[in-house]
Amino acid sequence: MTMIPFIDLTRHESGFFESYIDKVRALTRSATFIGGDEVISLERRLQSRLKVKYAVTCANGTDALQLALRAVGVTAGDTVLVPNLTFWATVEAVVNVAATPVLIDADLRDAGISFEAFLEALEKEKPRAAIIAHLYGWGTSRLSELRKRCEELRIPLIEDGAQCFGTTVDGNSIAEGALVSTTSFYPAKVLGAAGDGGAVFTSSDRIGEAVRNLANHGRSKHYEFAAIGWNSRLDSFQAAYLNLGLDYLDQRIESRRFAARYYRTALEQIGIHVMAPPDQYNENGYCNVCIIRDQAVKNSIEATLRSRKIGFANIYPGTMLDQPALRTMRPRHFGGNNAEQICSSVLNLPLFPYIRESELNEVLAAVFDGKKGKQLSD
Ligand SMILES: *Cc1c(COP(=O)(O)O)cnc(C)c1O
Repeated sequence: MTMIPFIDLTRHESGFFESYIDKVRALTRSATFIGGDEVISLERRLQSRLKVKYAVTCANGTDALQLALRAVGVTAGDTVLVPNLTFWATVEAVVNVAATPVLIDADLRDAGISFEAFLEALEKEKPRAAIIAHLYGWGTSRLSELRKRCEELRIPLIEDGAQCFGTTVDGNSIAEGALVSTTSFYPAKVLGAAGDGGAVFTSSDRIGEAVRNLANHGRSKHYEFAAIGWNSRLDSFQAAYLNLGLDYLDQRIESRRFAARYYRTALEQIGIHVMAPPDQYNENGYCNVCIIRDQAVKNSIEATLRSRKIGFANIYPGTMLDQPALRTMRPRHFGGNNAEQICSSVLNLPLFPYIRESELNEVLAAVFDGKKGKQLSD
């Protein structure tokens, strides 16, 4: 029995490691650390791959959200709708630009935002902006309606795409149809760097220029500053690593998709529900998402995985409202308790590029035995 981690980022393609080290050597020799050809080339490649006019790289995915919020005009005291089911950074970004987050429930089928709760909040809160997050490698089934509604009401919609790089909706990149979207290049994301990184995507000149400016101290000339921005630049080493990653991205995603489908088919056969992307999406295989409502079965499966040294995760174990940091703030909330339901029943199995079929089978056997063990002891 081998140990299978939840994520293994060391399975580089042959030649990948050497190419990166060669780049690091050349960049260091020429002292090209900030900006330069690697960053320029990465932004161009992102623009053409995603079919957006602007791909502005920045320091991380959280900054990307803050840049997007500032660029669409969110300022102190504004209200911004955010999902109650997401990674903490989505909410944190809103608070960090001095705006007030209002939380919206999730959709049980795809973990996207609850369409009904979102519409109700748009009407009652009249927010300055809204954020939705495309979790697990796909977006909500109501994406085009959400976009349309926000456009009609002139409420800027920011799409947190940290988990959906490479995902398509109706055959196009999700970023293409968004007013403004963001990503994270955190190493464990689908396009991961050798450290932190992020980007903002838009085809709006106004937003694109504003993001570019804010990420570089609000600079208008070398020593003239037109806005209060901050330093949020991607460095050359990260850009070099990401450019190499992009060369292999399609095959990494193919391998992820294979694993995601493999799990889904096998698990549904033994009666474990695995969340699937809505029809219009082709997922990037970021995540496997089992929904196990029976806590005894879930505990037994997790115990079996643990005893066999197989990694797993619960993405996420709690909602935003559950977080201690929001306790005193007591943000308003729209919808029911779908987000809580997903958090209490979600289990994620190991999934990363080049995970082997034998490893998938080993994980499946552990899930099967864990589930059976529970049934036998009942
Ligand atoms: C990873 C992630 C972020 C934050 O990205 P960082 O690069 O770690 O700052 C934001 N939102 C979601 C949904 C994420 O998964």
